[in-house]
Amino acid sequence: MNIVNEKLSLISECNSEDLRIERSRLCCDVEESTMEGSVFKRTQLCGAGFIENDMHGIGLQQCDLHGAGIERCDLTGAALVSCKLDGMTIDGINVQEMMTFYKNNFKKENTTMNKATRKAIIAGNWKMNKTRPEAKALLDELKGMVADVKSVEIVACVPFTNLETALAATEGTNIKIGAENCHFEKSGAFTGEISADMLAEMGVEYVVLGHSERRQYFAETDETVNKRTKAALAAGLKPIVCVGELLWERECNITEEVIARQIKLDFFGIEAEDLKKCVIAYEPVWAIGTGKTATADQAEEVCAFIRATLAKLYGAEVAEAITIQYGGSMNAANAAELVSKTNVDGGLIGGASLKAADFTTIIKAAEVG
Ligand code: PEP
Repeated sequence: MNIVNEKLSLISECNSEDLRIERSRLCCDVEESTMEGSVFKRTQLCGAGFIENDMHGIGLQQCDLHGAGIERCDLTGAALVSCKLDGMTIDGINVQEMMTFYKNNFKKENTTMNKATRKAIIAGNWKMNKTRPEAKALLDELKGMVADVKSVEIVACVPFTNLETALAATEGTNIKIGAENCHFEKSGAFTGEISADMLAEMGVEYVVLGHSERRQYFAETDETVNKRTKAALAAGLKPIVCVGELLWERECNITEEVIARQIKLDFFGIEAEDLKKCVIAYEPVWAIGTGKTATADQAEEVCAFIRATLAKLYGAEVAEAITIQYGGSMNAANAAELVSKTNVDGGLIGGASLKAADFTTIIKAAEVG
């Protein structure tokens, strides 16, 4: 159910799992309701009381919650993003005071909360670049620069022709190798294609799927991305599945619809245990290779939306475990701010992954992110 621009006075014993309230005023009480996975966006909730509700996986984005009170609610997996919280209480505890106490009393390793339970992944997507000697030279330079990195998973996704060279150059190092695509059939008359089994047999660990360039220039669809993801998982590969909106889709204000649709279709029929082996890369198409980066807040907003969508489909625990990267003109200068965001667990990097020094700066930004 969608409620936009409404003034509501009471919600009681309502059972609405996909409730979506946007730009509304709700300065009243919500009692004994099931609001699992619901989303409140830009809504006035000041002074509202939430009492004994199932608010599992609920998302509150840019809401005014000042003076609101939450009592005896199930808030597992709930996410509050960019909300006004002064005076808000949960079971009588003042949320802002609790956050200040938390910040002051816990050291850095505890401050990222759920983010700390997910390992950041920085993956380079080399696209159609580098001959074998060039690939070896880049990886030889990179491995020396990142040898001390432990808390970030480093991946280089390289053209098929470079896989063997890349695997040999990175053997025994902390750099993992990925491919840039795979076909969904196991074998057969598919000239020019490479199967997931062929990659796995070589020792390749990751594979980029559904990249916008594949969707744009090679007519890949959500249906084939879904089939490729299933094939990659069956072969034991870790898929990095790319989703993202076109510029005009963002301008038409349908980014969330586009992303939700891609997530639902690309992961259709994939069980939670398999989903946990996947990485999702949020790559706004307008930011790829254009030098136009999404702001850190835009990246966070969509990555948080992806997590909330996964929470609705798979539950909050699974959603919290998934690594969600940002990709789109991420570089040495803007990486730190992007990866510092709560729901941005690393990046998929195109152009900047072709220079060892720049890629290293991004990796090191994710170490502290
Ligand atoms: C990409 O190819 O996935 C990508 C994000 O490219 P770039 O960093 O060059 O925008």
